[in-house]
Amino acid sequence: MSLKRKVHDFVCHTGRYPNKKLGQNFLIDANILPKIVSEAGVESVDLVVEIGAGLGFLTSEIVQIAEKTVAIEVDSYLCDTLHEQFSKIPNFTLIEEDVLQLNLSNLFLDYDRKNVKIIGNLPYYASTPIMWKLLEYNQHIGSCLLMFQKEVARRIVASPGSKDYGALSIGIDYYAKAEIVLHLSPNQFYPVPKVSSSLVKLTLRPQPKVLVKDEVLFFQLIRSAFQFRRKMLRNAIGNGCVSLDMKQMDRVFTTLKIDSDRRGETLYISEFAEIANTFTEITN
Ligand code: SAM
Repeated sequence: MSLKRKVHDFVCHTGRYPNKKLGQNFLIDANILPKIVSEAGVESVDLVVEIGAGLGFLTSEIVQIAEKTVAIEVDSYLCDTLHEQFSKIPNFTLIEEDVLQLNLSNLFLDYDRKNVKIIGNLPYYASTPIMWKLLEYNQHIGSCLLMFQKEVARRIVASPGSKDYGALSIGIDYYAKAEIVLHLSPNQFYPVPKVSSSLVKLTLRPQPKVLVKDEVLFFQLIRSAFQFRRKMLRNAIGNGCVSLDMKQMDRVFTTLKIDSDRRGETLYISEFAEIANTFTEITN
């Protein structure tokens, strides 16, 4: 039976239409499912946590390979069908919860971080907060393969100098190496969304990419630089949320030999780290 037909059957049996608010756009291209699991690099020794398991189309592929599968799904109707399909499978656990409210630490206890893999065809409305939550577990998670709206995916992987480069690209680069592994068209989902999607693989760094003495200041600087992205660095930071006077700022730029006329979008993460660390030294 086609996956689209399975969605229709679910609607007929339960009277429940896919819930827009919960971002229920199910993957209905059967050919893409094994590709997704393969891009995630799932192996027989792995724990896979699937976020937003839906009707279990991806879950069916994951349970065939992973040692242990944990499916998280917030919609109780979908949980009923997941339970029916998978409850007899050894090492399968279903958690009926909002992933954003869940403490994930206990899930990872018995596994080495390299064998902990997250897969999620995420709801668009919450894809970025879910990703930030996962990055907090960098000591426990090896990699995440997550679906995003195409434009968001481009911003995640963008390099300095490109129009998509911004606070999101740098924030993620701090915690993980990001790459787009697949682009998907709206027709591969049902109901058909208005946007295209991309699958992003995040390989989490056990330690942040750069050494930063004051993380709060580091992220404030980045936000300021991109809040006013057409302004030169000196003015953008001065107008932003960092409370430093212009003299101190000029000292920092002179010490680092960074041209304060540059725009934030040209700076590498290492340069933002140097600026933040020099600010910290000067002001302490
Ligand atoms: N994995 C399925 C697939 O690929 O066909 C469904 C993907 S659908 C885009 C997103 C799923 O995430 C839906 O089943 C939705 O109910 C679920 N979801 C939405 N918000 C959630 C949340 N905060 N926590 C857990 N699951 C959520």
